[in-house]
Amino acid sequence: MFNKILIANRGEIALRVLRAAKELGIETVAVHSTADANAMHVRLADESVCIGPPPARDSYLKIPEILAACEITGADAIHPGYGFLSENARFAEILAAHNIAFIGPSAQHIRIMGDKIEAKATARRLGIPVVPGSEGAVTTDEDAMRISAEIGYPVLVKAAAGGGGRGMRVAHDETEMSAALSAARTEAKNAFGDDSVYIEKYLSKPRHIEIQILGDGKGNAVHLGERDCSLQRRHQKVWEEANSPALNQEQRDRIGMICANAMADLGYSGVGTIEFLYEDGEFYFIEMNTRLQVEHPVTEMITGIDLVNEQIKVASGAGLTFRQEDIVFNGHAIECRINAENPSTFAPSPGRISYYHPPGGLGVRVDSGVYQGYTIPPHYDSLIGKLIVHGRNRVECLMRLRRCLDEFVIDGIESTIPLFKNLVDNQDIANGVYDIHWLEKYLATGP
Ligand code: ADP
Repeated sequence: MFNKILIANRGEIALRVLRAAKELGIETVAVHSTADANAMHVRLADESVCIGPPPARDSYLKIPEILAACEITGADAIHPGYGFLSENARFAEILAAHNIAFIGPSAQHIRIMGDKIEAKATARRLGIPVVPGSEGAVTTDEDAMRISAEIGYPVLVKAAAGGGGRGMRVAHDETEMSAALSAARTEAKNAFGDDSVYIEKYLSKPRHIEIQILGDGKGNAVHLGERDCSLQRRHQKVWEEANSPALNQEQRDRIGMICANAMADLGYSGVGTIEFLYEDGEFYFIEMNTRLQVEHPVTEMITGIDLVNEQIKVASGAGLTFRQEDIVFNGHAIECRINAENPSTFAPSPGRISYYHPPGGLGVRVDSGVYQGYTIPPHYDSLIGKLIVHGRNRVECLMRLRRCLDEFVIDGIESTIPLFKNLVDNQDIANGVYDIHWLEKYLATGP
């Protein structure tokens, strides 16, 4: 097992990782920018190293500074959290060259899944259902038209180098194709410096359903069920739940086993998430995230399995501590992402938290790095905490969530708690009938 883990991240996820390391009896090193000197994970870590000024490119993304912090402290492993360097294959390679363990998958698997076209081809090869579309990038407009006619309109033109939902255009019929192609190419060129695009069938009312997997890198892998993350704003997840209200047990087992078997075949190591769009009973692979995800706690709540603990064990070579048949799914969990934002305009609201009272009680978990008197710096994303609630069933979970939202007080800044108070009382949410467009429509028309 590792002696000392350096946590190359900040905010709630740095604290989350620190907690798992402490429970394993492993020493911890926090690295932080000057803006994060007062962060809770910095206070709680055994050691801390300041690695630069506030902008992430000068601190949390600076590989040489992070390596130096490892050298100074003698850390033998790095947990990258999510975002920042977590899906940077070069970072994983550099660590390997320095004999420091990267708590994550191999650089090769990060690289494959980081390339949209290669990821899709790999998924198809491993037996994972994918969205019908072009096999790889389309070079000419004629090719694009021919493929679109074959799979049927509407189609989506997507940037091969895409990310964050950019470089995508829908074409409802042939007449819209050349405009969609040139718009997607221009946006892709500007955003990513690469104008290659590919074509997919456009799904008009899908849900976002993702499967959590865990592999040992030696040909064994399990799945830990799904999360439904359909409630999104600008492609950012807002509310996540497990199980999905849309799936039955047979569908859950089937797609879960497809993913577990695929990851076993791939020899995947660590945690990962295979994301699907789900429409009319069919799953369509969109991408795989080769890291821990923000919404991982909902899976932990229904399985009782600590995913960060498992990540650390697998990275140390210890293998999986359970088999598929040992995993028991229990009840229902919902996570609300609490952002420091105006709940209507979503304008960021950094600043000092003058009063803080998180909810508690049975089945309640708050993952957050903030505390009373803490000042949220303006330099990073606005996620300040996650409220995760478990119930024996979805109805109990919703009742408990409503109670927790009423209890939660964060004064001095604005937060998205009022949005969740409205959502938890909404009839569509109560019925579990929503697709990936539901939240945007709801926000446009008001509660
Ligand atoms: P990015 O890497 O830019 O986030 P994704 O491929 O993950 O790109 O797609 C982002 C979002 O776009 C998805 O979460 C989904 O909402 C939507 N999307 C992607 N592919 C399709 C499709 N074939 N049909 C409909 N919506 C899609």
